[in-house]
Amino acid sequence: MTVPTMPSEASAPEVTITPTPPPPPVSPRLVAAMVRGQRIAVPCADWCVVDHAAEDLADLSDLAHYGARISLPVPQFSGGPEHVLIAYMAQWPFARDEHGGLPYVALEACDSGDVTEIRKTAGRAFTDQALAHIVAFASLVEQLPEESA
Ligand SMILES: [Zn+2]
Repeated sequence: MTVPTMPSEASAPEVTITPTPPPPPVSPRLVAAMVRGQRIAVPCADWCVVDHAAEDLADLSDLAHYGARISLPVPQFSGGPEHVLIAYMAQWPFARDEHGGLPYVALEACDSGDVTEIRKTAGRAFTDQALAHIVAFASLVEQLPEESA
């Protein structure tokens, strides 16, 4: 009688783990900004779409990075689509605020100007809720009869 045996660690092929060298530090992209009439160089986020030299700031803490806006156009019965779930990256790198100068996602339910500032954990939780909503919406749509051509 042959008893099957589990491979032991000794007979497993030896795996050599070669440590990957850390990537070289990325130098920040430096751009021109104007503060009290003085042209200075400031690090700018890769996602930032702001022309920092176009505005003369009163203080360096007023400098903000903003990314491109995304939104979901929702068809309406009357008029054009309403854009909802407006979101963009934002960062006030020199401000002493609750984000400590770190980036966040700015989220507006609709174009009301009421912005919620979302960090990673809350953003992931909201993403899960939004995906579940879209799945439920798709389920509603699939209950409809097929349209004739
Ligand atoms: Zn920027």
